[in-house]
Amino acid sequence: MPARLHVSENVSLASMTTLGVGGDARYFARVTSEAQVRAAVAWADARNLPWTVLGGGSNVVVADEGIDGLVLQPDLRGWEVDDSSGRVRLRVGAGESWDSLVALAVERGWGGVECLSAIPGTVGAAPIQNIGAYGQEVCETIVEVRALDTVRDEPCTLPADACGFGYRTSRFRSGDMSRAVVVAVAFELRADARATVRYAELAQLLSRQSPPNLCEVREAVFALRRRKSMVAEPGDPYARSAGSFFVNPVVDDQEYAELVVRARSRGWIGAREEPPHHEAGEMKKLSAAWLIERAGFCRGFERGAVGLSPHHALAIINRGGATARDVIALARDVQAAVGEQCGVVLKAEPVFLGLSPEILASLTP
Ligand SMILES: Cc1cc2nc3c(=O)[nH]c(=O)nc-3n(C[C@H](O)[C@H](O)[C@H](O)COP(=O)(O)OP(=O)(O)OC[C@H]3O[C@@H](n4cnc5c(N)ncnc54)[C@H](O)[C@@H]3O)c2cc1C
Repeated sequence: MPARLHVSENVSLASMTTLGVGGDARYFARVTSEAQVRAAVAWADARNLPWTVLGGGSNVVVADEGIDGLVLQPDLRGWEVDDSSGRVRLRVGAGESWDSLVALAVERGWGGVECLSAIPGTVGAAPIQNIGAYGQEVCETIVEVRALDTVRDEPCTLPADACGFGYRTSRFRSGDMSRAVVVAVAFELRADARATVRYAELAQLLSRQSPPNLCEVREAVFALRRRKSMVAEPGDPYARSAGSFFVNPVVDDQEYAELVVRARSRGWIGAREEPPHHEAGEMKKLSAAWLIERAGFCRGFERGAVGLSPHHALAIINRGGATARDVIALARDVQAAVGEQCGVVLKAEPVFLGLSPEILASLTP
């Protein structure tokens, strides 16, 4: 039998998010089992209330008005490890911390997630936007995702190739499973302790150690992330953010060629130089941070209670006492400037909870 569902009223959400803005949840329930997830959704449905999921709150902007419905927080715990066959199979509850998973993997010599060190949040949220950093994406190690499909009111287990993983997206973020609640994720890691180093900045830092071990890669990732205030540590005022506020735009050849012309004519780059980019199949992935700085919003930009991190132009920070309105106004201005100056559309990365459809539409071009 599942433990009884406990629903609290008027619970402040700002303190449950890394950005630290937003109002209260009208109702809030921490759920610790699949049965409780089901019970929470049924509780909201029976009262005709909307419901939404909050993990560790590191990729959300909560509306100042709060959320007039039920916020459920998956706190399903537990680890199952099977390393009997040369590969390591790991099944982890959605409520476990993502970085604890990485720490355990590195400690035991299991490769595959070491570059994803220090990403805040929960295991259950990792597949939602297919977290990635320093040349690794979580979809490379996910075997399957166990979720409650709330539309059909039944649990389902989706193999990785049915999850629609892409660059910072999945079926759970924008597809037909966006009303699913992830309860556990299964991973397959390498047992050979071999580290993956594909990212130039990381390779450079590790250049004296060849080949680096998993522990060295994890330490190097922490060091790089700390320099950019991309570790959600309470002592770092510039880490009061939702991480990168914009995803790196992916453009086709024509859009890229237009940017090259514009960048050269404005003197942002030399006549033979190109804007920073990575090849992404047939497309090109641009640096959103570079575009933002070219559009006139520099690192350390301040506007009242909000600003851009002095260590990373991609992070909108709460400088103290910010509201969701402040954050959204700055995000819109940055988007508009990049559109005007660079001719490129910037897409916001965080998920907006409790915002009106009009505001949402204006932020999701
Ligand atoms: C300092 C900092 C650095 C960051 N660096 C990175 C980075 O390098 N790479 C990267 O990809 N991200 C990064 N992020 C963003 C964030 O950490 C990740 O997106 C993380 O996976 C969010 O996890 P969370 O548990 O906090 O989810 P939340 O922020 O609580 O939720 C995010 C979304 O997932 C949904 N969700 C959460 N849990 C579940 C569940 N169990 N079932 C269904 N839906 C769910 C929520 O409804 C919401 O839509 C960073 C954030 C910060 C603050």
